[in-house]
Amino acid sequence: MKLALHWKIIIGLVLGVIYGIIGALNGWGTFTSNWIAPFGTIFINLLKLIAVPLVLASLITGVASLSDLRKLSRIGGKTIAIYITTTVVSVTIGLVLVNVLKPGHKVPADMREELQRTYQTDVQSRTEMAEQAKQRGPLQPIVDMVPSNFFGAASSNRNMLQIVFVSILIGVGLIQVSKEHAEPVLKLFEGFNHVIIRLVDIIMLMAPIGVFALIADTINSVAKDNLAQVVELLSALGYYCLTVIVGLFFHTTMTYPMLLKLFTNMKIKTFFQGIAPAQLVAFSTSSSGATLPVTMERCEENLGVSEEVSSFVLPLGATINMDGTALYQAVAAVFIAQALNLGLDIGAQLTIILTAVLASIGTAAVPSAGIIMLVIILEAVNVPSAGIALILGVDRILDMLRTVTNITGDATVATVVASTEGQLRPPTMDSRKDRIRIHAEQ
Ligand code: ASP
Repeated sequence: MKLALHWKIIIGLVLGVIYGIIGALNGWGTFTSNWIAPFGTIFINLLKLIAVPLVLASLITGVASLSDLRKLSRIGGKTIAIYITTTVVSVTIGLVLVNVLKPGHKVPADMREELQRTYQTDVQSRTEMAEQAKQRGPLQPIVDMVPSNFFGAASSNRNMLQIVFVSILIGVGLIQVSKEHAEPVLKLFEGFNHVIIRLVDIIMLMAPIGVFALIADTINSVAKDNLAQVVELLSALGYYCLTVIVGLFFHTTMTYPMLLKLFTNMKIKTFFQGIAPAQLVAFSTSSSGATLPVTMERCEENLGVSEEVSSFVLPLGATINMDGTALYQAVAAVFIAQALNLGLDIGAQLTIILTAVLASIGTAAVPSAGIIMLVIILEAVNVPSAGIALILGVDRILDMLRTVTNITGDATVATVVASTEGQLRPPTMDSRKDRIRIHAEQ
């Protein structure tokens, strides 16, 4: 029997955890960094390598295939509205949980002081980064979307919104010129698109090994050959972690299925089965940006979302829609306030909702970006940003989990938008092969 991809990745993940723990117990840190970690880096690099060409090719062909530009603005408006709504819901879930469970009151005082001492320098660098982010003017995010040089935009995966902008621009241009001029360009990008989707499949063959290496290395760098310390940290911050995890779990398994039920005919099981490999990659890379090619491929091939919708909704989502991050930021902000015995009135809680939604939009789709933006939220409600020292030690673990929620949210919205636009095919596991066959027959 042929094992499904997500099972192979799960096996890689479990073996990675086992290896990581054994390695940490036996002091194999250097061996792991030298001989295991590079395979994880290669896997992430391969995914990142195809992200820009994938978005470029699929969005250009997607936009150019729209006969009517009004449709693009309708899809855009709908997408952004659902993205913001789901983020507000997730922040609210986080706030309710943290206010009810009060994890901040459960941190022992001596542990609090020790944590603040240990992470003092880390806090400083995070605060400086947040300061830079804060000094930007109100319209700067819009200015940042418009690149002054094409290759400049394509030179870094962090510029994903610029790539989205350029692709839409080229797509619009293609609609405006004569068929004779548009066709060769379009054919080139269409062909390119097929090649890249195929490459995602090939790269995913390496996923079980990549995931094994990434997890082993994460445990290695978190534990630093001292697993007992991690266990101690987890027990002190266990309540806080649990609050974030319960919130993420609730949002992922209740809010998203509810949206799918309301707007699509898709079975919830089909959705989660289809998206599972992307969730596992998100978990092991902690980066929705690196996971983007897999999310796009799974949505198109396994969930039946049209390329037109997925190529627009998903890159946008990877950049601005981070429900998991927003939920975590809300819980973390209140947790720190509770631990430092600072009361937050209803006004402060509303400020957290607003700033967490905005901060999650501004959070980069890379590991640990969420904690930098957390500093801005803390300052907005007058909680000392040095308080992040309390949670830095367990941040990586929560980062892995919130990234899973982030990409699940993107995939849900893509499915919902496709369904409401009449662009959701019945999902078939073999649709790519069908498409290649149809293409070959043409
Ligand atoms: N790692 C998250 C992501 O890429 C962002 C964060 O919350 O740090 O989605």
